[in-house]
Amino acid sequence: MTDTIGGLAVTDLAREFGTPLYVYDADVLRERYRQLREVLHPEVGILFSLKANPNVSICAVLRSLGAGAEVSSLAELLIAGRAGVAAEDTIFLGPGKSAQEIDACLATGVHAIVCESWGELAEIDALAARRDTVARVVLRINPSFTVKGSRLTMSGKPRQFGIDEEQALEAAPRVAGLRNVRLIGVHVYMGTRILAEEVAAENTTRILDLAERVAERLGFELETVDVGGGLGVAYFDGERDLDLRRLADLVNPAFAAFRARHPRTRLFTELGRFLTAESGTYLVRVRQVKESMGEWFAVTDGGTHHHMAAVGVGSFVKRDFPIRLLGREATEPAPNWRVTGLLCTPNDTLSTHTPLPPLRPGDLLGVLRSGAYGPSASPVLFLSHGHPAEVLVDAGRPYLIRDRDRPADIVDRQRLYERAPEVPSASIP
Ligand SMILES: *Cc1c(COP(=O)(O)O)cnc(C)c1O
Repeated sequence: MTDTIGGLAVTDLAREFGTPLYVYDADVLRERYRQLREVLHPEVGILFSLKANPNVSICAVLRSLGAGAEVSSLAELLIAGRAGVAAEDTIFLGPGKSAQEIDACLATGVHAIVCESWGELAEIDALAARRDTVARVVLRINPSFTVKGSRLTMSGKPRQFGIDEEQALEAAPRVAGLRNVRLIGVHVYMGTRILAEEVAAENTTRILDLAERVAERLGFELETVDVGGGLGVAYFDGERDLDLRRLADLVNPAFAAFRARHPRTRLFTELGRFLTAESGTYLVRVRQVKESMGEWFAVTDGGTHHHMAAVGVGSFVKRDFPIRLLGREATEPAPNWRVTGLLCTPNDTLSTHTPLPPLRPGDLLGVLRSGAYGPSASPVLFLSHGHPAEVLVDAGRPYLIRDRDRPADIVDRQRLYERAPEVPSASIP
């Protein structure tokens, strides 16, 4: 039996840790980072966007290779710190930061707070004044342009993210009076799941140009430019992974030209999905196999409460993540298996037409490329099932990096209010 993750048999992993289970391969995680690091302009720092996978051990592996962190909540800030990411290599971003979060940024000394609105800029100024400090602030800009080709466009339209380019260019009087804010840079994030090298390159060129214009008009020194990222991985039929060599050939000249004009500016790209997706497998076990009106269903012990991305929201026709039968030899695949979870909703469909061998209860299925936007981007409390366990395989050993939620973990968070009606004991048999 040859189905392994990081050299360990999936059957053993499932037996030891139970299912449903996320398994990450540390080698794949490192390989993805290194492949990009090798070809990317050496002066461009890579920040890991914890949003894609907030596990502290995943973050620690990436940090050990030199990644910084891009965080968007107090918990993510703490996780990055616990993973060993230095505050100077961390940026904090998000359209609705709390005063507590801004204050934590000031207290820990993050490299920059990425500011997303004028109101927030005033708030950062006030909070920094209270601490008698000067906040290092990067302005997130919502550019007037949009570059087609990302799957979820975050700019060039009315957005809660960032400050409109036109407003930023006219903001010199507004920022002049800020005593406790020092503008140090520009951030733009164009969108996610970019799979075309040209699109990434055009984004980069235009963002670098925009950063120069904003800094010049507002009269500050560009210490930092974050060109976003949003590099994708192929999930679906007809998609192909980015050619990193080609990507680098297209973006590096733009970075080099920029560095020639601004030799001291720190450049960053921030990536979540690209770094973690391929390393993760969502391992589920088939509970029931049934036929309904001519279609074959495999009902598993997992579901979209752990893997919402597999639902394929936003696609006209549902597109399926790659799913494989793991852990036993099998005969020819038959077309069009529907793989579902155990939730009580028809939307709980991991795949609608995956060719799989004849399945039987007890079989293990792996949803591949699932290391990004898994449980943290899914309704894990649906049916009160909770978060699945997560295991990292490194150097041939499995490490439990996230405990499975137990029913008690969920029930104990709830409170039965004092005036709750008494239950006659007879009603419970
Ligand atoms: C979500 C997000 C990221 C990470 O996006 P990926 O597509 O996972 O790389 C980076 N930056 C910002 C601002 C984001 O909102």
